[in-house]
Amino acid sequence: MAKCQHCSTPNPEGHFNCRSCGKRAHPQKWSTQFVVRDTPMATAIRKDQIDFGTVSMDDHIKKTKKYNDKERAKKLDKALWGKSNGNI
Ligand SMILES: [Zn+2]
Repeated sequence: MAKCQHCSTPNPEGHFNCRSCGKRAHPQKWSTQFVVRDTPMATAIRKDQIDFGTVSMDDHIKKTKKYNDKERAKKLDKALWGKSNGNI
């Protein structure tokens, strides 16, 4: 029978987090993609302490748009002049 590694509460259904103490019920078996879940950042996201996806996402979209506009301008320049002189 599976038990919580922290408080030994039985966990027959195999929940990821212990229902009794709220911690991870099983010892970590995976490496790379699960490591990030144990960072303070991931914990904060899980607890909804971070307003996740508003400010940073907005900023990201703006940056991406700026980059795309730049790339588009470069391509347009190339189309008009045959080659970019790199100084516009
Ligand atoms: Zn527990």
